[in-house]
Amino acid sequence: MSIGPDDTRPDDARPFGSRPLGSRPGITRAQCEALDAADPLAGFRADFTLPEKGVYLDGNSLGALPVRTAERVREVVEEEWGRELIRSWNDAGWFEQPYRLGGRIAPLVGAAAGQVVVCDTTSVNLFKVLAAALRLRPGRQTVLGDGAAFPTDLYIAEGVTSLVGGARSVLLPSTGAEELERHLDGDVAAVVLSHVDYRTGELLDMAAITAQVRAAGALMIWDVCHSVGALPVELDACGADFAVGCTYKYLNGGPGSPAFLYVAERHQGAAEQPLSGWFGHARPFAFEPAYAPTDGIGRFLTSSPSLLGQAALGAALDVWERADLRAVRAKSLALTDLFIALVEPLDGIEVVTPREHHRRGSQVALRHRDGYPVVQALIERGVIGDFRAPDLMRFGFTPLYVSYAQVWDAAQQLAEVLESGEWHEERFNRRGAVT
Ligand SMILES: *Cc1c(COP(=O)(O)O)cnc(C)c1O
Repeated sequence: MSIGPDDTRPDDARPFGSRPLGSRPGITRAQCEALDAADPLAGFRADFTLPEKGVYLDGNSLGALPVRTAERVREVVEEEWGRELIRSWNDAGWFEQPYRLGGRIAPLVGAAAGQVVVCDTTSVNLFKVLAAALRLRPGRQTVLGDGAAFPTDLYIAEGVTSLVGGARSVLLPSTGAEELERHLDGDVAAVVLSHVDYRTGELLDMAAITAQVRAAGALMIWDVCHSVGALPVELDACGADFAVGCTYKYLNGGPGSPAFLYVAERHQGAAEQPLSGWFGHARPFAFEPAYAPTDGIGRFLTSSPSLLGQAALGAALDVWERADLRAVRAKSLALTDLFIALVEPLDGIEVVTPREHHRRGSQVALRHRDGYPVVQALIERGVIGDFRAPDLMRFGFTPLYVSYAQVWDAAQQLAEVLESGEWHEERFNRRGAVT
């Protein structure tokens, strides 16, 4: 992946003036505290339950717990389920919940009403929309994906194409416009790309790529797992055909919380997905032997919603309802600018995330030869990031609950870990199942 030079366009103005901050002593913790005092999003910190001490920079992998979630889940368990029992399917609106939550996610991904539902997982939803896309392009049999994508997307593309005679999944060596052009021939039915790369944090140009793919007669499927809740996403305005995303990262829906999918309204009449379960049926409670898809986005549902997970997601979306995504984006860029400036001079560190704002999501990836034990040593010091093989340390910046002073602290701890060499210790070099 090519990482461009520092971009000095005027709209890339850094929060601390026109020059990079330079070495750590160039910016003080007090300056960061002043930024926190003026931060319009600072109040959101109180909406989350987080440890008193430490810095959580892994909200791009598992978002923090909203304060109201436990209460909301308890209500659903004790009242809706425990007391009202099966009546809640109607009385508590359980049946409509996938639509209602989808409608609440829609503004976060730039979708007009009726195009988003919450259901299943990202992988399962990708299976459904990709299969639907192939059916919408009969005669075309190639699915293009990014060879560096989050692997589940590639595995699902393999799985779907293996079921369709003659279909094949092709991995792009890069996502540049020329590379795409080389592969976008008359056989390409669909292209699946991540809006933000899970490893490097690179943000793709959704509008330009969607236009290029559609001009070639193919359908564009976006995976917005690493952009929803991190920056404004504009699926409708960009002309996307389909999208999938998860809710346990920036949206804070909770571990394994249900995912969502988007189908542009223009496809909803003709699109058919193969996981044709009863929840996508036009009359689920008629119990007819033959499948007949319902109208609209509902035909992409399969099964009974996981209502406890959906309850937790609902509580998380209450917080998002009050958040201005433009303010979130502005703070995200300021936090990542700050972190990059502070850690860039450190020995052995290479900043992999693009410097230009229009090419950056809300995480910073740092390459270090011994990234795994360095991250473990940081975690022991209370700075939680994660590691992605072979050598990338990832730090996610979630503007609703990460402060400027915490970014300064995290950079300071990283400097101390590297200077002390403590990461050489044996206990930091043992690997757990989840990195
Ligand atoms: C997190 C993530 C997923 C997660 O998939 P699940 O099926 O929900 O486990 C998929 N794709 C991308 C790009 C991700 O970042």
